[in-house]
Amino acid sequence: MKFNTKLLHAGITPDPSSGAIMTPIFQTSTYVQDAPGEHKGYEYARTQNPTRTVLETNLAALENGKHGVCFSSGMAAMDAIMKLLKPGDEIISTNDLYGGSYRLITKVYEKYGIKGHFIPMQDMSVVENYINKNTKLIWVETPTNPMLNIIDIEAICALAKKHGVMVCVDNTFASPYLQTPLDLGADIVVHSATKYLGGHSDVVHGAVIVKSDEIAEELRFIQNAAGAVPGPQDCFLILRGIKTLHVRVQRACENAQQIAEFLKRHDKIKNIYYPGFKNHPGHDIAKKQMRHFGGMVSFDLHDNRMEVATKVLSNTHYFSLAESLGGVESLIGHPASMTHASIPWEERQKVGLTDSLIRLSVGIEDIDDLTADLNSALEQLS
Ligand SMILES: *Cc1c(COP(=O)(O)O)cnc(C)c1O
Repeated sequence: MKFNTKLLHAGITPDPSSGAIMTPIFQTSTYVQDAPGEHKGYEYARTQNPTRTVLETNLAALENGKHGVCFSSGMAAMDAIMKLLKPGDEIISTNDLYGGSYRLITKVYEKYGIKGHFIPMQDMSVVENYINKNTKLIWVETPTNPMLNIIDIEAICALAKKHGVMVCVDNTFASPYLQTPLDLGADIVVHSATKYLGGHSDVVHGAVIVKSDEIAEELRFIQNAAGAVPGPQDCFLILRGIKTLHVRVQRACENAQQIAEFLKRHDKIKNIYYPGFKNHPGHDIAKKQMRHFGGMVSFDLHDNRMEVATKVLSNTHYFSLAESLGGVESLIGHPASMTHASIPWEERQKVGLTDSLIRLSVGIEDIDDLTADLNSALEQLS
């Protein structure tokens, strides 16, 4: 089955009791047994739910994995992966990691004796320098947020294999339509399904996909033991969103490309961060490991003052000022005051996250309206 068909058919069959073509929302907490221990594979809804099972099967197919395990949010999914570690273990990750992931490692798991190293992961020799006998996990995010750096998944996985270290890729920004890390050697893929998989800004959800039976068994144990499971309605919404993933992400990528080109010609813009440009340092790797360059574009202004950026952010109409990404509607964000405000100013400057940096999550509106909207906001700067 080809990817675009899997979105609609993998793991999905009409409901046998009614023929309903859509997966029913099994809104139940428990299941009736014929006799003690005699049941249909479902005992209690923290442990299993049929709506969730369909989504987990579908996600495993999309990522070319064997097992999908769903959670109540992207962070709950990451939390389950963190629970595979034990005190003394070390993690290597990127220096521009998603803020919530950075917070979970440093503010929650450091207390339990797990140590994180946050480094530029574009250079394999830098990564190798940080590997020691305690290193258990390399946590990759690519493209990164908000600088849209690209990390070579295949190279990281080869390095990790050599040292017996597990690799997890946060595939939220790319989605399986653009990139399938398990094919490149990763052990674990994690998603905030809140973003592109759901795609309609109406649900918070997380997922983990693996090939290994052992890791899946451990994750399912943690899922059931800790209980951060999604409700059936949320699983239904993710299943519905997934059916259009290919058309949504394709259009978002095409719009993003045109917006990046429009911004490049604009005299108020200083730097544009977009992996689709040939001069982007990760362009060749992005071309190799992604189907397209994604729906995210970041840029900053020649006039680098925060109040100037704020003016742009307040004057767009179709680009709504909000956190999150990956929905059908376009969003605009200001990392320095929003998602990355907790990172010290000096640290932000080091990675290029200036006071005027603006991040776009490009949606699927008409491209002419989107560019006109940005143009009008930028013209108002005079
Ligand atoms: C949003 C996001 C998360 C967290 O997911 P939630 O669903 O909000 O818990 C993790 N990683 C990345 C890259 C994200 O964008």
